[in-house]
Amino acid sequence: MSSAEDLQFTILPHPNPTSPEKRAELMANPAFGRIATDHMVLIRYKEGEGWHDAQVLPRGPLTLDPSAAVLHYAQEIFEGMKAFRTADNGIAIFRPDANARRFRSSADRMAMPLIPENLFIRAVDELVKADQDWVPSGENASLYIRPFMFANDAFLGVKPASEYMFLVIAAPVGAYFSAGAVTVWVSETYTRAAPGGTGAAKCGGNYAGSLLAQAEAKDHECDQVVFLDAVHHRFIEEMGGMNIFFVFNDGSISTPALTGTILPGITRDSILTIAREKGLTVREEPYAIDQLLEDAQSGRLVETFACGTAAAISPIGVVRTKNGEVKIGNRDGAGPVTESLREVLLGTQRGRVADTHGWEHRVL
Ligand code: PMP
Repeated sequence: MSSAEDLQFTILPHPNPTSPEKRAELMANPAFGRIATDHMVLIRYKEGEGWHDAQVLPRGPLTLDPSAAVLHYAQEIFEGMKAFRTADNGIAIFRPDANARRFRSSADRMAMPLIPENLFIRAVDELVKADQDWVPSGENASLYIRPFMFANDAFLGVKPASEYMFLVIAAPVGAYFSAGAVTVWVSETYTRAAPGGTGAAKCGGNYAGSLLAQAEAKDHECDQVVFLDAVHHRFIEEMGGMNIFFVFNDGSISTPALTGTILPGITRDSILTIAREKGLTVREEPYAIDQLLEDAQSGRLVETFACGTAAAISPIGVVRTKNGEVKIGNRDGAGPVTESLREVLLGTQRGRVADTHGWEHRVL
């Protein structure tokens, strides 16, 4: 058996790929995550055998035994990343090495095997190459890539599984939110993660647990939910699927620190780097919701934005709580600091801004 590092992929091209006309129609205005490309990657893991049977194959349903561990105990993790059409019509993925490392740390937390960083990246590259015609070229468009892994032992005991499937699928996507600032709901009913829990892992269960809070946000006519910490119910943590930043009238910015209950966002990390390079004062510190309400009213807090792979950077215009709401910075779109950070981030992703950090991983 070869080592996982040089595991070779068997390529099984789709016998009947989507026609160019149909593909163009599907890609014209894709709803987030609804469109399937032609292929997927599958790699199997078995205790004692390691990673084996790496394949690029036609995308299709999986067959699982009803006692597959993932269906009972949720041993599942995933990642989200994007491939972009670059200015020279190539294809680049933004920071896949960071996703590979986070995937390994999620696996570690969920007692799952760690896929080598290099194999993770090669798997993603293979899918993007096979489905290269699905990478759109519009300004807000990209190919969203979803690597994931789950336990497929057919066994009902509660223990780490001995067999896993690692897959990569993809979907062309457009803008996540429609233009303009979003309204967020601060949930005082639900928390997302407690100290010692799984908040820093990208595991499916965290998202199942967030759905009712997101529904509560929708009930209050908000786009997204903001979670508070589980101990004091006071400090802002993050949103259902994005990290959060605050911009103050002294030009400084802050975001909650990574204390183990927050997902360490790759967009968050990129923004911290870009902001420091712009000479902004950057703090990673707790920020209480009562302080936010006070600062929004006094004018100390001038901009707030959410960030993540799916939406990149989204300005937050209104923060709503059960006791009322505040408007941030009295504007409808992004403020100047949010806008200047977004310009560098989006520009780097699309090859318009020099990639001084080695963030662009060229596939083609
Ligand atoms: N927080 C949560 C809970 C998320 O699901 C995501 C999306 N992965 C993020 C933050 C942002 O992370 P990233 O910038 O790596 O997409």
